[in-house]
Amino acid sequence: MNALQREKLRSWWQGRILRDVSMADYSTLRAGGRADCLIDVTSLEELTALIKWLAAEGVAYYVVGRGSNILVAEQGYSGVVIRLQGDITAITPLPPSKTGEQVVRVGAGCSMAALVSWCTERGVSGLEFMTGIPGSVGGAVWMNAGAWGYAIGDRLKKIVLVDAAGCCRDVASSRLVLSYRKLGWQDGSLEKTIIVSADFLLFDDERSQISCRCREYLEQRRGKQPKGVASAGSFFKNPPDDSAGRLIDAAGLKGASEGGAMVSPVHANFIVNTGGATAADIIRLMQLIQKKVYGKFGINLEPEVKILQG
Ligand SMILES: Cc1cc2nc3c(=O)[nH]c(=O)nc-3n(C[C@H](O)[C@H](O)[C@H](O)COP(=O)(O)OP(=O)(O)OC[C@H]3O[C@@H](n4cnc5c(N)ncnc54)[C@H](O)[C@@H]3O)c2cc1C
Repeated sequence: MNALQREKLRSWWQGRILRDVSMADYSTLRAGGRADCLIDVTSLEELTALIKWLAAEGVAYYVVGRGSNILVAEQGYSGVVIRLQGDITAITPLPPSKTGEQVVRVGAGCSMAALVSWCTERGVSGLEFMTGIPGSVGGAVWMNAGAWGYAIGDRLKKIVLVDAAGCCRDVASSRLVLSYRKLGWQDGSLEKTIIVSADFLLFDDERSQISCRCREYLEQRRGKQPKGVASAGSFFKNPPDDSAGRLIDAAGLKGASEGGAMVSPVHANFIVNTGGATAADIIRLMQLIQKKVYGKFGINLEPEVKILQG
């Protein structure tokens, strides 16, 4: 993004623009380079107008949720980082269908924790397994996040997205290709598309039962993950029929560090920021892990965390 584009954006956009933003403040790893601009959009109309403008001006953009699975490289991001707020965080139960389906429409900017609490309070079941997974609904759908053998894509009925041209589309889940930590689309590329809302197919249950399941999931999670440290959760995807954590541990890397980044002694697939880690430290540690695991087992570990550069 050049100085002229920045100036044009400043005079065109009515809302607030944060300039030269440290993305460490927007990532649960508490590390990352700087972004040229950060804009919060609060409605679908604002979002489509912004994407059309950015596309026409040839300015790069990247949508983030709660930053629990991203790392912006040290050199930073020359473009606009977009966050979804306001109307794009609403939770709306749709009228029951004749077949008794319970569909809930959720804005992509809504936090997963807020959605799980909403469901628990209203006796709506189906997303308990997401308890304790930080992030937004949009981020969870984009990553097809999940745990305990379930993934959020299993509950999807439809998504609404804004494509790279700023046009809004409805996509039924039957047209989506949902795989391990990945969302795809049968009808084309999802590159540069932004999820605006997701419809989930859920069902009624006793509040006490739902809340009991949520508590159990949370307790199991607490027993397995490092506490009180900055991380992005599991850093690598599990290779087929194996676990990245097991491989990293077996390569003797628990506790290995680069600068302020360390392989958690509690869970080897967590890279934690012990304080003051830079994105470069984290990427160096990531590469060390990949090299050692490849050297010992011949397996290429693919990061689950999205690394943003450029
Ligand atoms: C302690 C901890 C535990 C975790 N445990 C789990 C777990 O058990 N299971 C699991 O699957 N994950 C886990 N994660 C990873 C992470 O929480 C999930 O991937 C989460 O769903 C990401 O959501 P986010 O809003 O933070 O996305 P971000 O990190 O902000 O973004 C992740 C990706 O999604 C894209 N994205 C975000 N919003 C949108 C949107 N509206 N439209 C299009 N693309 C979008 C971003 O561009 C980026 O590519 C964990 C993370 C932490 C820190």
